Amino acid sequence: MKSIEQVKRGKQKTNKNHKTVHRLPFTVYPSSHLSPLTSHQLQRYNRNMLIEQIGEEGQKKLSQAKVLVCGAGGLGSTVLTSLASVGIGTIGIVDNDVLELSNLNRQYIHKFENLGKIKVESAKKWINEFNPDTCVNTYQIRLDENNYQDIVKDYDLIMDCFDSFKSKFLLNKIAVETGKTLIHGGVTEFFGQVTTIIPHKTACLNCILPQEDAYVIKGVLSPAVSVIASIETMEAVKVILNIGERLENKFLSYDGLNMKFKTINLAKNPDCTLCSHS
Ligand SMILES: [Zn+2]
Repeated sequence: MKSIEQVKRGKQKTNKNHKTVHRLPFTVYPSSHLSPLTSHQLQRYNRNMLIEQIGEEGQKKLSQAKVLVCGAGGLGSTVLTSLASVGIGTIGIVDNDVLELSNLNRQYIHKFENLGKIKVESAKKWINEFNPDTCVNTYQIRLDENNYQDIVKDYDLIMDCFDSFKSKFLLNKIAVETGKTLIHGGVTEFFGQVTTIIPHKTACLNCILPQEDAYVIKGVLSPAVSVIASIETMEAVKVILNIGERLENKFLSYDGLNMKFKTINLAKNPDCTLCSHS
């Protein structure tokens, strides 16, 4: 995870004269195109719909939304279970790994009996058993620059639940190239971070953080992972419904050891090699 000081250093490079290219951050479904909810859905999501900012129309939007979750590990466990809980209609899961014993201190969507088995399949099984309404597509694949287009094009929103910064920067590049909104999250030990990236409108990862190629395995504690993943999911819901104040051009850092949250404002970096020239 990057420190908030690293983010601040990145932010200082911002030039106010830079021209911003605006694109639609998300496909907001017109109400007339929304399918009616079934009687089962009306009961299941009753407590969602009692929330003024959601209501029945909002629930229809959630039920029609297509969200791609990249990584079915620690962050993915909470993001996937939370997305299924709120009633997201279609969830894609990208992960190439099999379940290892050392994953189970935090990756609770997978059961002990699935050790050695493919993670996307055990994650799909959990969702299918919990919420048969949710359509789950699995991609047992290591995402790279040659294979992402056929996958990402079918989704409205990308959730970063990868565990290495090399993968996170790749996902950031994919989001910028496809114009898809990306919810970024990362966790190490007791600490975590979240930002919502609207390509060409808000700061991307490359704008604000130094790239690191090396993947160093560090400790990570399940409650910190769940906090960050829950915030990522909350961001996803707000982006889909276009409500509330989101972490767009904002970097939220979480210090679970001392129980502190900090948010700093961001801006696009005009010298960003990725998002400033397109
Ligand atoms: Zn950028």
